[in-house]
Amino acid sequence: MTEPHSTAAGYNPQVVRAKYLAERDKRLVPHRADIRDLRTDEQFARYRADPFTPLIERDPVADAVEVVIVGGGIAGILAGASLRKAGVERIRIIDQAGGIGGTWYWNRYPGVMCDVESYIYLPMLEELDFIPTNRYAYGEEILHHLEAVADRFDLVDDALFHTGVAVAEWKEDSGRWRIGTDRGDEVTCRWYVLAVGILNLMKLPAVPGMEDFAGHSFHTARWDYGYTGGGPGEPLTNLADKSVALMGTGASGIQCVPPLAAAAKELFVFQRTPSAIGERGNRATDPDFARRLEPGWQRARMDNFQGIIMGRPEENDLVDDGWTHDYARTRNVPRGEGMTTEEYLRSAEEVDYQVMEAHRHRVEELVADLATAEVLKPYYRYLCKRPCFHDEYLPALNSPTVTVVDCPGGIERIAERGPVVDGHQYDVDCIVYATGFEAEVTPLFRRVGHEIIGRGGVTLAAKWADGAASLFGMTSRGFPNMFVMPAPGQQAVVTVNYTQLAVLGAEFVGATVGQLGQKGVDVFDVSAEAEDSWTQEIVDSFVDASSIMSACTPSRLNFEGHPEEMNPRNGNLGRGLGDWFAYRERLERWLEAGNLEGLELEVRPSVP
Ligand code: NAP
Repeated sequence: MTEPHSTAAGYNPQVVRAKYLAERDKRLVPHRADIRDLRTDEQFARYRADPFTPLIERDPVADAVEVVIVGGGIAGILAGASLRKAGVERIRIIDQAGGIGGTWYWNRYPGVMCDVESYIYLPMLEELDFIPTNRYAYGEEILHHLEAVADRFDLVDDALFHTGVAVAEWKEDSGRWRIGTDRGDEVTCRWYVLAVGILNLMKLPAVPGMEDFAGHSFHTARWDYGYTGGGPGEPLTNLADKSVALMGTGASGIQCVPPLAAAAKELFVFQRTPSAIGERGNRATDPDFARRLEPGWQRARMDNFQGIIMGRPEENDLVDDGWTHDYARTRNVPRGEGMTTEEYLRSAEEVDYQVMEAHRHRVEELVADLATAEVLKPYYRYLCKRPCFHDEYLPALNSPTVTVVDCPGGIERIAERGPVVDGHQYDVDCIVYATGFEAEVTPLFRRVGHEIIGRGGVTLAAKWADGAASLFGMTSRGFPNMFVMPAPGQQAVVTVNYTQLAVLGAEFVGATVGQLGQKGVDVFDVSAEAEDSWTQEIVDSFVDASSIMSACTPSRLNFEGHPEEMNPRNGNLGRGLGDWFAYRERLERWLEAGNLEGLELEVRPSVP
């Protein structure tokens, strides 16, 4: 029996807080965040290999282009498209993947989809005259669409796939970046664009003994269909006689549970923290939907979504889903007139409690076994972890072949025959790691995976060692002619719909390069004043919420239970997750002014 969280008189904050803290403490264990560093760990190098596209031998490339973009995912493709529109001819995308798509190239696990509405997530729908087939798109459709965008803007032929940048070095004399790759390429470029995204480094936990496991194993971002059979939308035909362990119940883990449950002889779902899983309500696109759309509809729909997420008054809720209901509601609890801070915080806590209670009731409704349902209930505040949305995950756990293994302290160890929890060994043929990525809180210079050497030999890693320093979160002094696509934790803003941020960043890069070209500028750098001023603005808008967040269940959003480690310099423009509309206005006003304020500009007659 669990303790009641509401008394007959109603909600009891003391009881709820105590329960949340007790659940947090079960998870705040030493070594919780230990990982195998997949960038360098040669014992696990096979986890990095591309199972989707064979590596084709080629000679090293040596040439000079106008732009190199690192990363062929949404951000890189949109940056490329925008630069094309600005008249740039030679663009080379460089990516470790065997093709376009970034996250959507790598993540082809069964059931992969995007839980942000497809009509706002897939970029350039109007330009490509495409309407996704479902309200929430499956990975294959997203990948095909991104490939279509890349084709439309001719970004594929010059791309270097299965290629990692090893070093990028600014050459003062020539006013060019020199890019060296792990395949011996030597490319110079005038403009260098980093578009590596936030989900490019797979995270593999360092569980003692994992190298002893004798079965098969892989990460969800490298799904091995050769082993499981089937495909992203097809049954996993080879698993009928296999026991499978799935580690992790975040957005990726829950999406691949239904197809795994349907196919495997036995499925063990190892859960450290239950996600809050809201209703999905996916459905085929209404044929009338496209007929009703007016030009400019996609930007308007993205803005409408973002407005609701930020608590702005909007006439309609066009997307009308769990993000605009639960996420927006808990993020923007209204402050009643005359409320003291204490009263306001209490009211926010109660709203949060109601939202989380609804999630806990949903578990009770959908999961038949009471003990299983109990461990699946999320006992923490809604914004402590990234919420999830799914309609088939919880029902799939009712299958007699599925066992949820509750392990709040993590997996004890992995033995030759399988994972061990509380001294019990689970014999399995295969372990699937749905353990995520080094995301928002991993600094850019680690995520890019190569040394970036700017003016005077200073590396980006050295410059940003104590936190980001930028103008607009997209340029940094000492790294001339370099753009960084905006991302969380990098002096820009956080958006639920990443595409909207990528569109803005891409438009900014294209328009800025266009203006630099019109002025005949060869080299730009950020002035010290402009960078200091932007960075100071970010620091000034930082709100230290660590006292509230320390009550959270540990997650990557709160540095695995250490929110005090948040560096104000890696914050956002505006309080908390940032003010999207203010950020966009700043960028648009700057572009409209057309005087490239805050940049130091050099025209070099000798530069060809
Ligand atoms: P994730 O959210 O980081 O989840 C990783 C899971 O692995 C968590 O359940 C985590 O437990 C568990 N885990 C990590 N280390 C463990 C250990 N040592 N022992 C046991 N369990 C361990 O990763 P993800 O699901 O791949 O999602 C990553 C991000 O990708 C998401 O935040 C989202 O932005 C994006 N994504 C989006 C969609 C979409 O539909 N839009 C779909 C998939 C992914 P804890 O919870 O206790 O940490």
